Amino acid sequence: MTSAPRLPGTDGRKMSKSYGNAIFLTDSPDLVSKKLAPMVTDPARKRRTDPGNPDICPVYDLHRIFSAGETIDRVNRECRTAEIGCLDCKKLAAGHLNAFLAPIQERRKPYEQNPKKVWDVLEDGTAKARAVAQTTMAEVRAAIRLT
Ligand code: SF4
Repeated sequence: MTSAPRLPGTDGRKMSKSYGNAIFLTDSPDLVSKKLAPMVTDPARKRRTDPGNPDICPVYDLHRIFSAGETIDRVNRECRTAEIGCLDCKKLAAGHLNAFLAPIQERRKPYEQNPKKVWDVLEDGTAKARAVAQTTMAEVRAAIRLT
């Protein structure tokens, strides 16, 4: 239902930890670039001068998910005319993907440095859920007695 209905992994199949083709939220910018460098592209584009077809390229799917509109338009145009090479295209994709990951990694940092915070959040959530469940159960018991 979206312009990019599935997130491709680095081998072009759906991204999955079990396929070993995943990019993780914790991957550093360097690692993301390294993972994207050998990523599969349009198989018909063998030489730099061959025009490509972004519609069948998983790197372009990543652009459609993570890149800015002008980058998506540029890749869509310049791939078909061989103005942009796959290496540069992947560097652009890595840049946008890293920009997407940066704020997530920033928010994660305090929890990495102090894992006890995670337990505090979980315990707090458990206490809130328990209170709601107890209220619901009281309502259920009352309703059963009424019927
Ligand atoms: S230029 Fe980009 S979209 Fe085109 S085939 Fe290469 S990696 Fe895929």
